[in-house]
Amino acid sequence: MEIRKLGEFGLIDKLTSLLEIKDKDVVVGFGDDCACVNIEGKLILFSSDIQIEGVHFIKEKISPKNLGWKLVSVNVSDIVACGGIPRWGLISIAVPENITFEYIQEVYTGIKEALDFYNFSIIGGNTSKSEKIIFDLFITGETDRFISRSGAKEGDFVYISGYTGLSRAGLELLLMDKNNYESWEEEVISFHTKPVARIDFVDVIRNANSCIDISDGLAGDLGHIEKQSKVKIVLEKEKLPVHPLLEKYCKKYNKNPYDYILYGGEDYQLAFTTSQKKEKGFLIGYVEKGEGVFLKEKTNLLRVEEKGFEHI
Ligand code: MG
Ligand code: MG
Repeated sequence: MEIRKLGEFGLIDKLTSLLEIKDKDVVVGFGDDCACVNIEGKLILFSSDIQIEGVHFIKEKISPKNLGWKLVSVNVSDIVACGGIPRWGLISIAVPENITFEYIQEVYTGIKEALDFYNFSIIGGNTSKSEKIIFDLFITGETDRFISRSGAKEGDFVYISGYTGLSRAGLELLLMDKNNYESWEEEVISFHTKPVARIDFVDVIRNANSCIDISDGLAGDLGHIEKQSKVKIVLEKEKLPVHPLLEKYCKKYNKNPYDYILYGGEDYQLAFTTSQKKEKGFLIGYVEKGEGVFLKEKTNLLRVEEKGFEHI
């Protein structure tokens, strides 16, 4: 069977069923933003994320420095989504032999900048040859409390840490291949090429009931919380924040901003649910008994979670 028939999540399901976890110290295995083990009372988080040329990035469309920054940020985002702070990483790189050293050095400059920003270290790794450029980061973190996708409760409030949709608008702008971009368009592009993981939300997330980072799109990623928590999530359309630059983009190119806000992907904001209202982030909806992710507009309810973005 060709794996394209399975899709990204179908493939993950099949593969994880091949590896049974029997270790009692494993608190959380496959299926969340991080795995978690209990080492003598300390909760240690593990995650990894890869950047492959032609799949996750186009070499001509992202500077090597931003590529390095992004590699680290997307990994930190998963650690923060579980309520953790990053501690150590291992990096594997595989590159074609004709790539210049200067290119790789620039990627590492971006990596170093991100490590300083998020305050952790890469302490080892591996190098190899490949036809395409591949950077893979394995990251560890620690937390006092593991925040999962499965902890949302009826009556919770649903929050996001910031605006969504800009990354996809930025990607579309990049793919337009324009000779000249206006300065506001450059700014939109930077949401795609230089995302910032919301490490500033760690304290809020540690007190949340559930959390996920938005890599595949707000609606699809909330669908993971909804399914794993066995609840219904209702988003209130008038509460979804529309970034002024997204509005500008959608006006100029005749697009619907809610397609971007709900289904954009690669935002690396955090979506979380809490029993109590919070000062930080945008309150966008609530959790009820039932199933599905819905968008509420006045009295209309529209089911929305099924348009997520998959890499395969
Ligand atoms: Mg994630
Ligand atoms: Mg990820």
